[in-house]
Amino acid sequence: MVKGKGKNNFTIFDETIEHQSFERRLLENALRQAIIDNQFYLEYQPKLNIATNELIGMEALVRWKHPELGIIPPVKFISLAESTGLIIPLGEWILRESCRQTKELHDKGYGNLSVSVNISVRQLEDPYFIEKVQKVLDETGLDSKWLEFELTESIFADLKNTVSILQEVRNLGIQISVDDFGTGYSSLSYIKHLPVDTLKVDQSFVKDIHVNQESQAIVLAVLNLAKTIGLNVIAEGIELEEHVDKLSEKGLLFGQGYYYSKPLKSDAFEEFINNNNAIA
Ligand code: C2E
Ligand code: MG
Ligand code: MG
Ligand code: MG
Repeated sequence: MVKGKGKNNFTIFDETIEHQSFERRLLENALRQAIIDNQFYLEYQPKLNIATNELIGMEALVRWKHPELGIIPPVKFISLAESTGLIIPLGEWILRESCRQTKELHDKGYGNLSVSVNISVRQLEDPYFIEKVQKVLDETGLDSKWLEFELTESIFADLKNTVSILQEVRNLGIQISVDDFGTGYSSLSYIKHLPVDTLKVDQSFVKDIHVNQESQAIVLAVLNLAKTIGLNVIAEGIELEEHVDKLSEKGLLFGQGYYYSKPLKSDAFEEFINNNNAIA
């Protein structure tokens, strides 16, 4: 492994790297197998109008149920799926499953629900992406106006032809939301050049909004910006009544978070809808 010079200094370092890449390979193989065996399922987190508590839709979040390791959260495998390219088949499955289950809900009479699907930059780089999305829409029968893609701010730096791809997505009738908004390094003004519909305020600004004036100022700035250029705003990570109160006071209308519900398996989500309808 160590080639000649600086032997002693580098041995330990090399072993660590080797160990890491060994674990990585194990996980990568497990991920490959998981895709073949379909060890994934989706949970759905409700999105609400926080003024009326009306349910407006849900975010689909992938989970991996490994036969021995149990449930593995997305932070543990999404970046590996991205760097290995496995996000391409996995992402397609996530999209199809989200659309299929949403169409199923619509057919059961829950007609006005949108589904938000997280999409990686790697998927947008796939030359067949738009074709695949169109195919999923055709096959599942979901009207594209109920579909939204959540993209993190980083895509606007990483992706060369961002604007044209986003435009193609929108031409399909799909909404676009900027996830974790405010955490990227980009200036706010770049947003006006992009074909997006919604800004999703990152949960780090929500967490302490009831006690932190800077977080309040940031949320207010996002709301003002969105109003000026005609975008919607949603907040994620709402955990407390104080969060709801402060966000409402600033003029925010839509949100999601543990205060309303954790992400739920599809049957539990359906129960949530029923209870929500009973209140509304
Ligand atoms: P994200 O898209 O920003 O999703 C929000 C994350 O915050 C989710 O974690 C959700 O369960 C969690 N969350 C929701 N409400 C609250 C709250 O009130 N408090 C706190 N502390 N957390 C809350 P999750 O499901 O572990 O997903 C983490 C990230 O993994 C996602 O962040 C997204 O970037 C990625 N991810 C999840 N599912 C997918 C997927 O299907 N495709 C892709 N490409 N990425 C995904
Ligand atoms: Mg998201
Ligand atoms: Mg987010
Ligand atoms: Mg996030």
